[in-house]
Amino acid sequence: HHPDRSTVWVGPAGHQVPIGPDTFTFIAGPCAVETASQTLEAAEMAKAAGASLLRGGAFKPRTSPYAFQGLGVKGLEILADVRETTGLPIVTEVVDARDVTVVAEHADMLQIGTRNMANFGLLQAAGESGKPVLLKRGMTATIEEWLMAAEYVAQRGNLDVVLCERGIRTFEPSTRNTLDISAVPVVQSISHLPIIVDPSHAGGRKDLVVPLSRAAIGVGADGVIVDVHPNPENALCDGPQALLGTELRELASAVRIMPPAL
Ligand code: PEP
Repeated sequence: HHPDRSTVWVGPAGHQVPIGPDTFTFIAGPCAVETASQTLEAAEMAKAAGASLLRGGAFKPRTSPYAFQGLGVKGLEILADVRETTGLPIVTEVVDARDVTVVAEHADMLQIGTRNMANFGLLQAAGESGKPVLLKRGMTATIEEWLMAAEYVAQRGNLDVVLCERGIRTFEPSTRNTLDISAVPVVQSISHLPIIVDPSHAGGRKDLVVPLSRAAIGVGADGVIVDVHPNPENALCDGPQALLGTELRELASAVRIMPPAL
């Protein structure tokens, strides 16, 4: 029913950012919202490097229940304040169907992470939220299962779904996940939905972010989503994959995402 590839628009009317075939969208920000100053600093780094959307987790789906779980609603409020200051629309994760309303009140785009890709109640609630959805691939999901997860959102009337390839689990231990770069053209051949790549969560290592971003562009992805942190050694979540501001600018120039004129 969709012969042409779709563009999904994110953000408030008049300041909407496109994700789709006619552009390459650069999303950056901290893995987790830790404090107001850390989030603002990371957002300024993202903006200076040319990012048009800010990512940042307020609800963090951690493997260990003892790891930092995010600031919750306080984190959403910080993100909303940072949007006021920087003008960058917000992409943030929702991990529980009961939180969809509050996350949708603060965010411009709802992220559903790899661990929740097949949480059908959450997908349906996101489908009713009125906000675009960034749907990450489950780390053990086939492409068909991933597209069916997107259908759970669409079935509730929300066609504004962007897919994100973030690596799958394989036997290879030298990277945290294996970036399935072939998923990009495969998805584009059978789905109208935009698809972006997360090189930070795929490799789990910052030295891989530039090469994997180049691969994403080479294969025709519609954007990348990248972790940046003002002080990665002390990050509460995924510090080893976070770029510094200077490194984010290097990434932008390496992949020719040009920062806006300052
Ligand atoms: C994230 O982007 O913050 C995240 C947790 O990603 P993933 O769901 O891909 O692990």
